[in-house]
Amino acid sequence: MQQKYVYVFSASRTEGEASMKNLLGGKGANLAEMCRLGIVVPPGFTITTEACTEYTKKGKDYVLNLIKAEVEAGVALLEKEMGKTFGNDDDPLLLSVRSGARASMPGMMDTILNLGINDRAVEGLARKTGNERFAWDSYRRFVQMYGDVVMGLKPVSKEDHDPFEVIIDMLKEERRVTLDTDLDANDLRELVQRFKSLIRARLGRDFPTDPWEQLWGAVVAVFESWNNNRARVYRELNDIPESWGTAVNVQAMVFGNLGDSSATGVAFTRDAGTGEDLFNGEFLVNAQGEDVVAGIRTPQQITLEGSRRWAQLACVSEEERRKNYPSLEEIMPEVYQQLVAAETKLENHYKDMQDVEFTIQEGKLWMLQTRNGKRTGAAMVRIAMEMLEQEMIDEKTALLRVDPHRLDELLHPIFDGEAMKNAQVLARGLPASPGASTGQIVFFAEDAEEWAKHGQSVILVRLETSPEDLRGMSVAKGILTARGGMTSHAAVVARGMGKCCVSGAGAIHVDYKNRTMTIDGQTWHEGDWISLNGSTGEVYEGQITTKNAELSGDFGMLMALADKYRRMEVRANADTPEEALIAREFGATGIGLCRTEHMFFEGDRIRAVREMILADDEFGRRKALAKLLPMQRSDFEAIFREMHDLPVTIRLLDPPLHEFVPHDEASQQVMAQEMRVSLGKIKMRVEELEEFNPMMGHRGCRLGITYPEITEMQTRAILEAALNIQAKGITVKPEIMVPLIGTVREYNAQAAVIRRTAEMVFAERKDRVHYLVGTMIETPRAALIADSVGSQAEYFSFGTNDLTQLTLGFSRDDAGKFLPHYLKNGIYEKDPFQSIDQKGVGMLVQMAVQKGRSVRPDLELGVCGEHGGDPASVEFFHRSGLDYVSCSPFRVPIARLAATQAAIKDVPKKVELKQQPELEAVG
Ligand code: ADP
Ligand code: MG
Ligand code: MG
Repeated sequence: MQQKYVYVFSASRTEGEASMKNLLGGKGANLAEMCRLGIVVPPGFTITTEACTEYTKKGKDYVLNLIKAEVEAGVALLEKEMGKTFGNDDDPLLLSVRSGARASMPGMMDTILNLGINDRAVEGLARKTGNERFAWDSYRRFVQMYGDVVMGLKPVSKEDHDPFEVIIDMLKEERRVTLDTDLDANDLRELVQRFKSLIRARLGRDFPTDPWEQLWGAVVAVFESWNNNRARVYRELNDIPESWGTAVNVQAMVFGNLGDSSATGVAFTRDAGTGEDLFNGEFLVNAQGEDVVAGIRTPQQITLEGSRRWAQLACVSEEERRKNYPSLEEIMPEVYQQLVAAETKLENHYKDMQDVEFTIQEGKLWMLQTRNGKRTGAAMVRIAMEMLEQEMIDEKTALLRVDPHRLDELLHPIFDGEAMKNAQVLARGLPASPGASTGQIVFFAEDAEEWAKHGQSVILVRLETSPEDLRGMSVAKGILTARGGMTSHAAVVARGMGKCCVSGAGAIHVDYKNRTMTIDGQTWHEGDWISLNGSTGEVYEGQITTKNAELSGDFGMLMALADKYRRMEVRANADTPEEALIAREFGATGIGLCRTEHMFFEGDRIRAVREMILADDEFGRRKALAKLLPMQRSDFEAIFREMHDLPVTIRLLDPPLHEFVPHDEASQQVMAQEMRVSLGKIKMRVEELEEFNPMMGHRGCRLGITYPEITEMQTRAILEAALNIQAKGITVKPEIMVPLIGTVREYNAQAAVIRRTAEMVFAERKDRVHYLVGTMIETPRAALIADSVGSQAEYFSFGTNDLTQLTLGFSRDDAGKFLPHYLKNGIYEKDPFQSIDQKGVGMLVQMAVQKGRSVRPDLELGVCGEHGGDPASVEFFHRSGLDYVSCSPFRVPIARLAATQAAIKDVPKKVELKQQPELEAVG
């Protein structure tokens, strides 16, 4: 059989259906499905995405020849159904030509309406309908759309206005009217003439009068649009492959611009903002196509309730509302009932919230489109849970309906909708960490701390942040940086803290010296108010009120349901009792990574740490460490208390010592005074500690191996704390973790120190506590020899941040220079620091899992990198057979849901070591 390229949909015959999105595109497949459901849809046909693919491969002539007969047969069917003839002068059949890919790609190509009209047909249309204005309105819209979309008459530059709109505005001025609807038939006729002259003058071509020429031109334009710039950019951003192609929908026109009993509108079966189960939408009388969304006139509400709510917000009195903005329910009650019947049928059929388009032609309702509606994170959760309650969907479907990423929106403070109305955007950066915040500008972390102590809300504005700014960051309401990307220090730390952050706002000039920030010549000083939206990357002038996001009942129900289907545990990365508490509240079942170095920065501790670093010998170091011991112990006590009954994995000291000493002379001077040593000595030590590549320098277990007394002190602090808390009848589950090993001997050396110290502590206290000793797998070598490591260590925790850096050979902090370019050009598909590189780094993880379990079947396996909170990575870790993922406290719900979805999708748990097929682009 010959290949089929055209599928018709109509009341009498429909060839497609909803499941055929790949072939017919989303719009075409749903139009066919609506016909099957007996919903009134103007008849039409869909040219398949395969035709588009052929077009890209073999060109215009080849494809037009290929589909010609089928398209002609399609048009013939429409003529029969509509009782009109395409190209007829007295009663012409007019068509719309609409693009539609598999995934909705808004704004990719504009639709062409009223195709088939020309100088003779317009007269016939006027006679036939007895409505001259309507006929000329349809014609001028067609010339405008066709001239733009098919013939390519665009604004000359980006500052230029749309040339057609310029002509319309000029005529309105000449006629002294303001609304499109104030132009009469003669004016519209005049517009058609002027449009055509413009096209001739600018393009040197006449506007096509032959309907078939018009049709083929439009079809080709849709195929072409698949490869226009807009479409390419959209595809890049949304991971849509070029090979998909777009379908073309050709459909009989229905007219919402035929007078006062005609209208056009859009509606949602539920509220897309809140998820409330409330049918809602907008319409315009005597309008066509995109008039509603284009905002040329104020649209009216469909339901009476919606109309009343709208009037209240818009400060319109009930009397004026009824007179000027009545609802569809009021003015066309019968059509309204039909619309409600159709939307109900559609939602029940698709079992998801629908976004529909419709047109009313002289009192008759026609549906033009339906699709699953876009919605906020909050609406996503509410709709899923209410549909479950209404028994429309089952539990697994409800859980799969919510995009885990979008839960983020529910977990951070948001701006008050009212307050946003007058907000003025000052600059834009990257939406590095979601949420909303408002506060007074400070430029230094110490100032942030100082101001916060006095109860002030501050926004820390920096060129970029560094580990020394941690405390200032933690007390700030939000963080704004002029430099840095989505994985910059500021961004990563802010996300971990669940704190709003806008990074890389390049338009901002920070002058630390004068304590000012300048944007476009305008200057803000320390203490001035600004506001940040970390979800959009926008920076606003002044103070905008925020409100706490509510963890609504639906959210709680969703999470409880998620736990029912989950296999993997979700732990949190938490360094303080406060973070541990948040983690517990969000449902973490343990701490997967507690970084001890953060404790070293607190208060006086840094002084003891520096004393240790400055010490000339072991004796000196031990003296300094003895001062740190009680402080660390009390930290651990608080964390163990908070995390009772749950495991807490504590990593021994990891960063290079260089990070703990000051680098500017003023601070070094202060340090010298405090330590009672010479500035020269400090300088020398700082210089000694300097490394060419600190990431690969004297850090991780290398510290503990060269200075075992550090490991001893930390082990002692952990186990004494555990014993103290256990003595209170609380169950503690400490897991001591050795970082950055590359050889078994490194692990064994550290494990020996830990075990020996433990026995000493237990003997002194005449008490014991159960604890585990394990290691991070974060160097490729450790993964390669995971069987030998596994025979010694009781658990593995994959430190996928360092594992990624060391496997890919580039550092997260320096990748900003080339990674964006790599992503744009598809060299890497995703940022490997955000979503794990499954083929490379993931391969090492899977191999280590298999090797480790081969020697120790009950080896506990987890992940503690940033990837633990990334849904795609979580799914990968589930497939790889890990026991848990650990992520920042605020991402715990996201990881919980992602782990549930991975379990529901039930991908095989068996780990195969076979090299996976490579994607062409990623070598
Ligand atoms: P988009 O995907 O951008 O919404 P559409 O193809 O849905 O583009 O069409 C744009 C506008 O034209 C919509 O308002 C739609 O309802 C309207 N429209 C499309 N086809 C027809 C038709 N056959 N009759 C009347 N209006 C139509
Ligand atoms: Mg649209
Ligand atoms: Mg549409």
